[in-house]
Amino acid sequence: MTNRRNFIKTAAIASVAVALNSFKGESEEAKLVLSNKKIKPIVLSTWRFGIQANEAAWDILKRNGRALDAVEAGVKIPEGDPKERSVGYGGRPDRDGRVTLDACIMDEFSNIGSVACLEYIKHPIAVARSVMEKTPHVMLVGDGALQFALSQGFVKENLLVEESEKEWKEWLKTSQYKPIANIENHDTIGMIALDANGNLSGACTTSGMAFKMHGRVGDSPIIGAGLYVDNEIGAATATGHGEEVIRISGCHLVVELMRQGKSPQKACEEAVARIVKLTKNRNKNLKDIQVGFIALNKQGEYGSYCIQGGFNYAVNDATGNRLIDADYFLK
Ligand code: ASP
Repeated sequence: MTNRRNFIKTAAIASVAVALNSFKGESEEAKLVLSNKKIKPIVLSTWRFGIQANEAAWDILKRNGRALDAVEAGVKIPEGDPKERSVGYGGRPDRDGRVTLDACIMDEFSNIGSVACLEYIKHPIAVARSVMEKTPHVMLVGDGALQFALSQGFVKENLLVEESEKEWKEWLKTSQYKPIANIENHDTIGMIALDANGNLSGACTTSGMAFKMHGRVGDSPIIGAGLYVDNEIGAATATGHGEEVIRISGCHLVVELMRQGKSPQKACEEAVARIVKLTKNRNKNLKDIQVGFIALNKQGEYGSYCIQGGFNYAVNDATGNRLIDADYFLK
């Protein structure tokens, strides 16, 4: 009996030692994450600009800040960067040469705010948050959104940078609207986060498809399409051809699939499968379409899937910030 007890004790100590050894060199925080004892906070965002955006979000999350504040601060990084051609300031214009922005935000209480086709304001996500917090509505568009932004103290600025104007003038020579998958004439930042208190929030912001018709609105400012958060279940956000995401109410679908017990990865795969099926039914060519989803559940597990290779996303938790290539359907 004593021997057996000693054996169990020795084996237990050995396995702990092995486990700790495999986490050698990691911070205390990271060891907990790696041993699956702590998965929060965590933040995910779309595309390579997600790395820098995650850093800003992580700054808030690591100090036990609210996921809502983290996602807003995070997406403001590409929004404010004039070198980013697909989000906020510096974004490519529509076919009339106007930079029109779409954004939405959703918190752990299912509060929502959104702006669409907003011009002249560098940080549409902050306006979306003001719609959420200061109006009885959930969505403002065009001139109404601009008037509201100005009434809240946002400043009117020219968002069309020289480079984007040049590209637009070049485009005018043919005036062919043909969004090509993964050729950088679109790309949205969608960000979802789980904070240290276990609460989820998300934000999504974009200048939309380059050279779109004036007034065109994509999935990104539409709650349920480009973003959805359910604090009991999980969160999802999307990028790619917004028309296809709207067609399946993409991010709401991903969250509902997680509610049915699917992992974030499987939920993203099933939502993509839905788009694949509808595309075939509609006799459209899948090769012309790109859609990518990222998802995070309440347990801090995450996943992603897209139609074709080339989509990546950034994940930041206590083990660090990294860019991951999403798995894809068209192999
Ligand atoms: N989903 C965005 C839109 O359709 C664009 C993108 O994410 O690439 O406006």
